[in-house]
Amino acid sequence: MEHYDAIIIGGGSAGLAAAVALGRSRRSVLVIDTNKPRNARASHAHNVLGQEGISPQHLLELGRSEAEHYGARIVTEEAEHLTGSIEDGFTVKTDTSEYSSSRIVLATGLTDDLAGIPGLREAWGVSAIHCAYCHGWEVRDQAVAVLGVGPMSIHQALLFAQLSSRVVFINHQPNVLSEENRATLDKLGVPIVESRIARLRVNGDGQLEGVELSNGDLVDAQAAVVASRMNANAGLYQQLGGQLQEHPLGTFIQVSEMGLTGIPGVYAAGNAANLGAMVMAAAASGTVAGAALNADLAISSLNSELNKMHA
Ligand SMILES: Cc1cc2nc3c(=O)[nH]c(=O)nc-3n(C[C@H](O)[C@H](O)[C@H](O)COP(=O)(O)OP(=O)(O)OC[C@H]3O[C@@H](n4cnc5c(N)ncnc54)[C@H](O)[C@@H]3O)c2cc1C
Repeated sequence: MEHYDAIIIGGGSAGLAAAVALGRSRRSVLVIDTNKPRNARASHAHNVLGQEGISPQHLLELGRSEAEHYGARIVTEEAEHLTGSIEDGFTVKTDTSEYSSSRIVLATGLTDDLAGIPGLREAWGVSAIHCAYCHGWEVRDQAVAVLGVGPMSIHQALLFAQLSSRVVFINHQPNVLSEENRATLDKLGVPIVESRIARLRVNGDGQLEGVELSNGDLVDAQAAVVASRMNANAGLYQQLGGQLQEHPLGTFIQVSEMGLTGIPGVYAAGNAANLGAMVMAAAASGTVAGAALNADLAISSLNSELNKMHA
């Protein structure tokens, strides 16, 4: 079985940044990745300093070649089983192989669970959007329908009302709006439509043509803003006995400032550990986790040398 200093599971921004930090420290690194980043449906990634508007796949191609330049090996496989401990080392079984390592980085991202509105999946990442910083500028001044599906929806209305004066809030029944929520929307000048949404009318390119209500009326909108429930892809962490943290918007792996999880030797970075992390924050947390893991390995090999000398 091939052994590595570190196995990084997930090769998005977080995992590749960790791989660069570790590769530059002359660690042997394996990145196991299914290449399905969360923003795969988006044509451009914004708020990426120095690479503003780059395509998500191109950004990861650059990251892969940088990681490989420093010796990281990247395989397109799915990690299915994770066992072991810091004392005995870790074993990762993928769909085709088996590898071992001294340390693990979980950079597996999160899954966006979408409200069950017909058409939403087809429009997701194209004209059904969740993040003002990722897509807001692109829909400025457009007709925008915020779909009221949960606790994030009011916050989204607040941010998108800053970008367009043509925002409408469709309170998708049975979503409940408090009096305070209604007052907020009123102050923002955002009208409320009280109705269950029948479906998003979407063309073959994922472009929204309007939001169809349960009575058949069509709300004119070029973009639908909708929050997902965000759950960390953390099955492997749970296989090691790790517990997930609950958040009003989903679940995540709790980590220290340096990316260490509650399990010694196991680090987590990116959206798996921070539901709100955008591309640069995900990459930054990967760099931090990679650096912390490297120092952890350096200290533990120094300690074992000292123990041998004193034995
Ligand atoms: C539609 C959309 C648009 C967005 N636009 C922007 C934007 O413009 N700007 C911005 O800053 N942010 C944007 N984001 C957020 C951005 O996608 C995340 O910040 C970023 O992808 C997080 O990086 P990550 O490395 O944590 O996870 P990901 O990029 O999701 O990468 C996780 C990787 O792990 C792999 N993986 C998961 N489980 C396994 C496994 N068991 N075995 C092997 N591989 C596995 C996946 O295939 C994937 O390649 C957007 C998000 C969405 C949904």
